Amino acid sequence: MLTIEHAASSAGKWELCPGSLEACKGIPETKSEPAKSGDRIHHALYEYAVGKVTDIDSRIDLSDRERQVANWFKDQVVKTCRANGGVASIHAEQTSLWQITPELQSHITPDLVISMKDGTRHIFDYKSGRAEVHTSDDNRQVQSYALHDWLENDGPADRVVHVLSAGNDSGERHTMTTLDTATMIALEGYIPEIFIAAVKPGAKRELGFEQCRYCLAAGTERCPESIQAVEKFAANAPRMQPVDAVLGAMTPDQCSEAYKKVALVASIADKVKTCLKNKMMEWANPSGDTDWDAEGCPMTGWEITKGSVVRSIPDDYVDEAYRLLNEHEGITPDQFRSIVSVKRTKIEGMVHAVRCEKAELDQEKAPTKKSTIDDLKTILDPVIIESRKAGSLKKRSE
Ligand code: SF4
Repeated sequence: MLTIEHAASSAGKWELCPGSLEACKGIPETKSEPAKSGDRIHHALYEYAVGKVTDIDSRIDLSDRERQVANWFKDQVVKTCRANGGVASIHAEQTSLWQITPELQSHITPDLVISMKDGTRHIFDYKSGRAEVHTSDDNRQVQSYALHDWLENDGPADRVVHVLSAGNDSGERHTMTTLDTATMIALEGYIPEIFIAAVKPGAKRELGFEQCRYCLAAGTERCPESIQAVEKFAANAPRMQPVDAVLGAMTPDQCSEAYKKVALVASIADKVKTCLKNKMMEWANPSGDTDWDAEGCPMTGWEITKGSVVRSIPDDYVDEAYRLLNEHEGITPDQFRSIVSVKRTKIEGMVHAVRCEKAELDQEKAPTKKSTIDDLKTILDPVIIESRKAGSLKKRSE
């Protein structure tokens, strides 16, 4: 029996590059700070869902931003529950074993599955990290959860999948798709094939921006194709000089194709560059001493400058910073405000959260985000300075 881990969360990647399962096997995953922050948010929501805590604001392990994001996720779930007659049963981060074929299985852990009193069943996935997230109608991860749930449990045919995305600069987004019986039958014939293809010996590696940019094997000997792509590009780059002359001879479609290739190579090259730099730093400064200077740098032609200490005031301490400046230096609120800027989207998020909380207390219908934004346009109109950014191109999903 073969057991694969994270089948659902990797389904989208394996669909595009079946060989990435084998290529990434055994490579340790180092958690970035945004990933650790996502874990804290997930954990707080889990404890809220199972009733261990009743108030996310009381979580001292979360930063202000994390509390705001977790509260937004919670509010979206609460609203969905209210709109569907309330909760009949709830399962948070419940791990089960998915028997994909008689020889293949995977553990699977959806963030939240709720059966509603009106008979509908909802599956939620929280995304607090990446800026670009596939919506619920185009998300293999949440479709995999829904398929597994549909296969395992009798009950209503339809599953409603929700992708909740927050915590990044592109703002919050809640997308929701109902998967009816016909869709489930189609997914039953498709999703298991993704996993079967990924475990096949010699599964093919397919380069592509979408799958390679977060792949642990990118730029390593586990995926020679990714190294070759970077090397080939690096070798050809000098021939593109002057770049404008080459581009000038291209048609719009040739430009678009070349752009996709460069974006792919750039994403892998960035990872390789970071790994190489870290490796060289390990040789040059094994103790990680911040006072270390260039003496004894083992790489010819390199000199690494003295480390520096970065000082900053995190969002959580801004109030205290003002209090201290006011107490010791007599800085006035106006003087302090003159050096502070605030994002309009942050104000919208804050006001909306306050309005939702008030509506909940008054047992009224929660306001929509759109109505909050519309009202704020009027309220803040006297202080908003409008400027226009040039239009930009956005890649259409293929
Ligand atoms: S780097 Fe790209 S091609 Fe290579 S294994 Fe990963 S996803 Fe596949």
